[in-house]
Amino acid sequence: MKQRTLIWTIVIGFFIAAALGLVLTRPQPKELISDTRVMMDTSIEIRIFGSRRTLEAAFKRVHELDKLMSRTLRGSDIYKVNQQAGREWVEVSADTFHVIETALRFAHLTGGLFDPTITPLVELWGIGTDNPQIPDPGAIEKAQGLIDYRKVELDPKSRKVRLPQPGMGLDLGAIGKGYAADSVAKLLRNRGVESALLNFGGNVYVIGGKPDGSPWRIGIQDPFSDRGTHVTVLEVRDTSIVTSGPYERFFIRNGQRYHHILNPETGYPAETGLASVSIISPSSITADALSTSVFLLGAEKGLALLEELEGVESMLITNDRKVYLTSGLKSQVKSLAKGFEFHD
Ligand code: ADP
Ligand code: MG
Repeated sequence: MKQRTLIWTIVIGFFIAAALGLVLTRPQPKELISDTRVMMDTSIEIRIFGSRRTLEAAFKRVHELDKLMSRTLRGSDIYKVNQQAGREWVEVSADTFHVIETALRFAHLTGGLFDPTITPLVELWGIGTDNPQIPDPGAIEKAQGLIDYRKVELDPKSRKVRLPQPGMGLDLGAIGKGYAADSVAKLLRNRGVESALLNFGGNVYVIGGKPDGSPWRIGIQDPFSDRGTHVTVLEVRDTSIVTSGPYERFFIRNGQRYHHILNPETGYPAETGLASVSIISPSSITADALSTSVFLLGAEKGLALLEELEGVESMLITNDRKVYLTSGLKSQVKSLAKGFEFHD
């Protein structure tokens, strides 16, 4: 082969190899991958535009957090703290410590209506278990005497937690799913996911918009109808929407409905005239804690609390089908399902 031909062969070969390299390393078009699994005592749905490996990593993260923060799972951080009530300090994970601190902040903001030491009452009522019951007044009073968020002892340096009285117990059920949603969203973003929808038992988090660029459409459940019937639909990106209401977990006795959000002052399920509270915030832990808090506070005090906070919008539905909106939502929600009307 002549030298010139050889040089040309090398040059052309180089370009072909480079072009091939480009084609092979170009990012693959992302496909929709989703799954729904029972975890954290609820159904956990994760829909991502990404890879199967990323989806598995997301579920693994939920599992890890459940194993740390479940009240009932033997060996979890919370299980250990509750076991040691009245006795030893317990070192917990950074995740658990952060969630406890956040829960205590909302306990403070609500004057103790939201209280993560609600365990004795939760166990007494057993709502959501196979044996729910209406406890007798004496038992309620005794449980109430064990609930007080101000008594939780924290040592941030060693990440240790202690409950001073035997019988006290932490319950992060009102806030844990929100933290899990934030945590999974962070994991997905770190792995390059630009479009996803998480639904952790009514605790929704969306990353970006849909892959076609349009916003996600999230329905707000009609608290008086079957699941999937909506009062309105919100168009959102990069945010969380969390709804709390007494319509998901309850039992009926003597024609009366008893639900799972308990008022530590009365010892009974909270009756504040609200049928549901939805909170929209880029922080899902905030939205989760607030949806339960505002439900416990009722419309008037709840809206006053919301006014004080930044980056939070809300929609409240009363038992008589009136809908309250915070100012940032008024421009978005123009119509409601039949039977509902705006509160002026
Ligand atoms: P869900 O978990 O159904 O989405 P919430 O976020 O409103 O609903 O949390 C309700 C859970 O919070 C209850 O199942 C219980 O574990 C716990 N809880 C009940 N009452 C209170 C309260 N007053 N303060 C804090 N947590 C509570
Ligand atoms: Mg909540």
